[in-house]
Amino acid sequence: MRNPNHNRIISYIAIVFEIFIAGISIVLFGTERLNIMFYLGTTIAFSGIVYGIFKVRCPYCKKRLHLKGIVHDKYCQYCGKEI
Ligand SMILES: [Zn+2]
Repeated sequence: MRNPNHNRIISYIAIVFEIFIAGISIVLFGTERLNIMFYLGTTIAFSGIVYGIFKVRCPYCKKRLHLKGIVHDKYCQYCGKEI
């Protein structure tokens, strides 16, 4: 079972990666016509958000933990067990 703190970081990496891909896409191709890189990046970002929603959960009580910030949670805010 993966640590929910690690899953939160993976989710953030996907979102940052999307911004990076979209930025390269705009630099290379401009903003007049959106291209495949932009759509690919957007898909990756949404995947990261969905991944975060489904995977950043307490391993004991399965309740969803927050997605704000990169500070790791030491304890579950619902059941109080150590993560
Ligand atoms: Zn819990």
